[in-house]
Amino acid sequence: MPELPEVETIRQGLAEQLAGSRIRAVQLRRRDLRVPVPRGLASAIAGQTVEAVRRRAKYLLFDIGKHTLISHLGMTGSWTFASSKNYVKHDHLSFQLTDGRELVFNDPRRFGLLTLVDRGEEATSPWIRDLGVEPLSPEFTPDALQRLAKGRTVPVKNFLMDQRVVVGIGNIYASEILHRARIRPSRRVGRISLSGWGEIVESTREILRRAIGQGGTTLRNYRAVDGESGRFKNQLMVYDRANLPCFTCSVEISARAIGGRSTYWCKVCQK
Ligand SMILES: [Zn+2]
Repeated sequence: MPELPEVETIRQGLAEQLAGSRIRAVQLRRRDLRVPVPRGLASAIAGQTVEAVRRRAKYLLFDIGKHTLISHLGMTGSWTFASSKNYVKHDHLSFQLTDGRELVFNDPRRFGLLTLVDRGEEATSPWIRDLGVEPLSPEFTPDALQRLAKGRTVPVKNFLMDQRVVVGIGNIYASEILHRARIRPSRRVGRISLSGWGEIVESTREILRRAIGQGGTTLRNYRAVDGESGRFKNQLMVYDRANLPCFTCSVEISARAIGGRSTYWCKVCQK
């Protein structure tokens, strides 16, 4: 499942390719995604111009005319430019642009989301209103995290993956962030010091920025809008490296399920 760096890479590609483009027609082939695509979606955005493509958490926000289209990739969703009129299976929605290009949303497992709100009103939508802080925003601070963690016993890895606390961090980046911060994934959040949270904040920013710079991480099917795979896979320090030597201390990387998700760490480097 894509995490923040993958969605941000897709956003950058879409913004570059799409900003200022006019949608001539919209074809909706399947409405039964995670929730049904609204019936009026196609008529609301046909003939309108895409003014911006923004992101909140792992949601892509297309500002189109008087509306904002909210899209989530779910497990297997993708946005790509089609080179011909030959649709492939699972192409559920397409925008035909006035310049002849065509943008297609494909989603084999159909956990993705396509919905519409009034322009700029996404913050109050049920998908977005309860989301936590953006990890690359100034509000993501050691103090804020310590406040949210106070008195709680949840393992720090689960805490970082809780979208009501901080958004966009999933299983891959949580392991990588905690390795860089030298903190064990099982540490109880209520017992992490302010300087520990400082390490976590700094590591989060560093890992996410580097991953965005590498176009994200492709493990299976994630691709950027231009079809490129993410290159951050080559920089993973612990994720999916069970029993391989730690790059810092050469001791074997440990792996076990925490909160039902595979978790990787170095028992020497991380305390
Ligand atoms: Zn180590």
